[in-house]
Amino acid sequence: MADFLLELSKNPQARKLVQTLGLPLPMPEPLQRPRGPRGDRPLADRAVTLRTAESTLTPHVADALARAGASVTAVGTAAALDGLGDVGEAFGRRPIRTDLEALGGSKARVLVFDASDFAAIDDLDRLWEFFNPLLGGLARCGRIVVVGRPADQAPTAAAAAARNALDGFVRSLAKEVGKRGAGANLLIVEDGAEDRVAGPLRFLASERAAYVSGQPLRVSARAKAAPAAPETRPLDGKTAVVTGAARGIGRATARALADEGAHVICLDRPEDASAVAQLARELRGSPLAVDLLAPDAIDAITAAARERGGIDVIVHNAGITRDKTLLRMKREAWDLCLDVNLTAVAAITAALSDAKLLRANARVVCLSSIGGIAGNMGQTNYAAAKAGIIGLVRSLAPQLAKRGVTINAVAPGFIETRMTAAMPAGVREVARRLNNLGQGGLPVDVAEAVAFLALPSSDGVTGQVLRVCGGALVGA
Ligand code: NAD
Repeated sequence: MADFLLELSKNPQARKLVQTLGLPLPMPEPLQRPRGPRGDRPLADRAVTLRTAESTLTPHVADALARAGASVTAVGTAAALDGLGDVGEAFGRRPIRTDLEALGGSKARVLVFDASDFAAIDDLDRLWEFFNPLLGGLARCGRIVVVGRPADQAPTAAAAAARNALDGFVRSLAKEVGKRGAGANLLIVEDGAEDRVAGPLRFLASERAAYVSGQPLRVSARAKAAPAAPETRPLDGKTAVVTGAARGIGRATARALADEGAHVICLDRPEDASAVAQLARELRGSPLAVDLLAPDAIDAITAAARERGGIDVIVHNAGITRDKTLLRMKREAWDLCLDVNLTAVAAITAALSDAKLLRANARVVCLSSIGGIAGNMGQTNYAAAKAGIIGLVRSLAPQLAKRGVTINAVAPGFIETRMTAAMPAGVREVARRLNNLGQGGLPVDVAEAVAFLALPSSDGVTGQVLRVCGGALVGA
């Protein structure tokens, strides 16, 4: 279902007219999205202003930005700037060192604030001092990343307060910049995980995270580190399974993984066999026509995995809704929704793991939903299943970590697919506007988040729920 207001706002004359006439119409900013597969320098020549911290994390952050091709301008205390050492020099991307006064209201595509040295409540003033003069110069669809340390590992109560304050700050900032199509997110980096920050930072600072906003993402050294992989075609030689690949988010995900070099096994129900066969041909992958609820489904999946010598990525994307208030819900609708959305995910993951078909450093990505976080009228079955996914992911992460296997959930908000096209028109229109960006996401936005979690460079992220919801106004 086309979004009329978004189409209207793509036309500069119409935008101007709405503004001039002062019409009470929201004009969502058309989002800038990535084109094609990943390259070595996703931030090539992008102006990035970085607030450095007096901490061991800053050099890693600056190095990741410089390696990604960014033109970094670094501000901070003399000691913090000294701490950068020769970052970026090897590839001709030495950050320019300056101070905030000299910067004035300069323009930037990305603002990165390293708050990893926050130890006292007064340190929060540095947020105002940095963002107040620089926000006006942030580009349309610009990106903001605040980097901090976990409040639950703070040495003092004051440090915990300062660290946790970043969460509220980022969520509010995301609401303020959303109308310009921009996003703000928080990266929480545990001690000892400094060298895992590059992958998540590359993602959050780029347009691949266009529909991710107002989110905290934690980076840890819990899972065994992945061997280094190239930034271009990082999934070359790897095998991925995507369930529910015939359409919507699954189809976009299969395409995104194939773009990064993976051989994708595209799984969907037998009634979608021809759509799946066509997609698999196009992506040079393989089709697998299986109903996840069929008694032989697990055998078929493990056989396909065994044929490839094990798998490196599984995306549990297949999902259904059977909405009714609990009072009116038939037992069949309850069962079906839980069986597809949760029971099958748990059973397939366990079967692959038990049969040692998840290769070392494999990636498991499960589709949850904002519904599983915030709840939704008429969706007790669906929300129970999608919240169950979050429990599963959190519980399995430590068990799988020893072999470097990560497991995460992606929780989409309102995404323009068949599932949301089926909503009553009025409800759909309200639902698609209830986020910081004032528009629905596209399947590719979710696919990009899944692809990020499927990469070797996401080895610092496990047991997490990454929301792809434009900063939905519902849910924590
Ligand atoms: P969709 O209905 O467009 O596609 C789902 C696919 O799953 C279909 O191709 C379907 O055939 C397949 N599938 C369903 N049951 C199956 C079974 N028993 N065996 C094999 N395949 C089966 O849905 P979508 O909108 O692309 O959603 C994909 C995932 O994202 C789902 O898990 C959904 O719950 C989740 N999600 C979607 C949204 C949204 O706004 N669209 C929001 C939150 C979460």
